[in-house]
Amino acid sequence: MAKANMAQKRNEMPTQEPLVRAQNFDEVALGYTEEMAMDEAMRCLDCKNMPCVEGCPVKIHIPAFINKIKEGDFEGAYQIIAKSSSLPAVCGRVCPQETQCEARCVRGIKGESVGIGRLERFVADWHNTFTAASLEKPTPNGHRVAVVGSGPSGLTCAGDLAKKGYKVTVFEALHTAGGVLVYGIPEFRLPKAIVAKEVEGLKALDVDIETNVVIGKTLTVDELFGMGYEAVFIGSGAGLPNFMGIPGESLKGVYSANEFLTRSNLMKAYRENPETPIMKGGRVAVVGGGNVAMDAARTALRLGAQKVYIVYRRSMDELPARREEVEHAMEEGIDFMLLNNPVEILGYHNPENPRDEKNGFVRGMRCIKMELGEPDAKGRRRPVEIPGSEFEIEVDTVIISIGTSPNPLIKNTTSGLDVNSHGGIIVNEDGLTTRDAVYAGGDAVTGAATVISAMGAGKVAAKAIDELLQKKN
Ligand code: FAD
Ligand code: SF4
Ligand code: SF4
Repeated sequence: MAKANMAQKRNEMPTQEPLVRAQNFDEVALGYTEEMAMDEAMRCLDCKNMPCVEGCPVKIHIPAFINKIKEGDFEGAYQIIAKSSSLPAVCGRVCPQETQCEARCVRGIKGESVGIGRLERFVADWHNTFTAASLEKPTPNGHRVAVVGSGPSGLTCAGDLAKKGYKVTVFEALHTAGGVLVYGIPEFRLPKAIVAKEVEGLKALDVDIETNVVIGKTLTVDELFGMGYEAVFIGSGAGLPNFMGIPGESLKGVYSANEFLTRSNLMKAYRENPETPIMKGGRVAVVGGGNVAMDAARTALRLGAQKVYIVYRRSMDELPARREEVEHAMEEGIDFMLLNNPVEILGYHNPENPRDEKNGFVRGMRCIKMELGEPDAKGRRRPVEIPGSEFEIEVDTVIISIGTSPNPLIKNTTSGLDVNSHGGIIVNEDGLTTRDAVYAGGDAVTGAATVISAMGAGKVAAKAIDELLQKKN
C-alpha cells in the first residue's frame, strides 16, 4: 500500500461560493470526489487502539472503513459503516464530528484530524448512487410493533425491527416522515431527497408509515396495544419551543425557530407564492447560539432578509453551534451580536390603536450588554448583565431559538409513563420506560440532542424489543 499522507491539513470540502449560496437553498457542501476521498483516507494511520471509535456514539469501526477507501473498495467501506449506523448519509453531513470521532483522532494533535465525517458522507453517497437497493424482504415473524415519531430514533428502531421480520407501523403527527431531518434541518445542509430515500427504504421493508396521526390525540398508547401491537417505541422528539418570557413575544413577526423552519422547510415557504404565511425580507434577529439558531439565521437570509443578526448572551468561545456552521454563517454575512441579551421586543406605536404596541408588528428589540462572570455548575461562565448598557436595534422579525423540550402530550395520555423534571421520558439502559413493553429514545428522553444519539437509542430499543418479543415464541 502507498505511504501515509502526512499533510497537516485535511482535504478541503468543495462548497458553493458564499455570495452565491446565500441566494439559494441548494446544499452548501458539495462532497469529496473519489480522488479527494482516497487522498484523505491516506491520512489515517490505522491506529491499533482506535481512539476515534471511542468518540463515536455508535462505535463505527472507523479505521476499517477508511482502509477500504484506501483500497478503492467504496462499497466495502459502506458495508462496514452500515453494521453500526443506519443513516450514514445523514450523519456524515450533520454529526458534530469535531466533538466526537474527530476530536479523538491522533492526527488532530499536530494538525487537522482525519475528515472522518466527510469520508462517511462520501461512502454513503457513493453507495446511494451506484448500488441498487436489495429487494430481499425478511420473512415475517408474526409480531407487531408500533413506533411513535419518524425522526432518526423512530426510523432506526423501525428499520432494525423490520429487518428481523417484525411488522412495524410508524405513526407520525406531521404529513411527512423524517422528524427534524425534514422539518428542522434545512435543505442547504441536508437535502430532503436523502431522508426520503431512507423512508423509501423502510417502506420497501414493508414498514407502514401512517402520517397525520398524533399519538395522544388521534390514538393513545393504550389503544395501540388494543389494536394488537405488542410493543411501542416512543421517538416523539423534543419539539416544544422554549420562550424567554420577555414583553413583546406575542407581537406579529415573532417566531419560535421550530415554527419558522417548519414553515420554510416542510411547508415550502421559500416558493414564490407560499400557502403558509412567513415574514420574508427586512431585518431579522435570531436569539440563541445553537445549530438551530444558525439554521434559522441562514434560512432567513435565503428568504431575502437584508440583515440578519445572531443575538447571543455569551461569547464566541461558548457558542454551542458546530464550528463549521458558524463559519459558513459568517461567510454568508450573518452579523454576530455576542454578549448581548434581549430584554423586550418592541411593537409599533399606533395612536389610533394603542393595542398595536402589544399585538401589532415588531419594530425592534431592546437588548442589554452582558459580560462573563463566575462559572456555573456545568463549568460555563455565567453571563451577567452590565447595568445601564441597554440599547435598541431595529428589526422586523425576531426568531427565538433558545431550546426545546419534549411535548407532554404522550406522557399525559399514557398511564404509568414517568418523566424527569425536564419532561424527558425515564428509561433504563435498554430504553424501557416505566411502563411494560413501552420503550423510548432520542430527544423524547434526553431533551434536544443529536441525530446520532437518537439513532443509537433507536438501535438499543430495537434490540431490547426483539429480545422481549422473542421470549414470547
Ligand atoms: P425528532 O427528529 O424530533 O422526530 C420526532 C418525530 O415525532 C417528529 O416527526 C414529530 O412530528 C413526531 N411526533 C411528535 N409527537 C408525536 C405524537 N404525539 N404522535 C406522533 N408523532 C409525533 N443534530 C445533529 O446531530 N446535528 C445537527 O446539525 C443538528 N441540527 C439541528 C437543527 C435543527 C433546526 C434542529 C431542530 C435540530 C438539530 N439537531 C441536530 C438535533 C437533531 O435533529 C435531533 O436531536 C434529532 O432529530 C432527534 O431525533 P428524534 O428521533 O428523537 O426526534
Ligand atoms: Fe463520526 Fe458521527 Fe460517523 Fe460516528 S456517526 S463516525 S461520530 S461522523
Ligand atoms: Fe485514523 Fe485518526 Fe482513527 Fe487513528 S485516530 S485510526 S488516524 S481516524
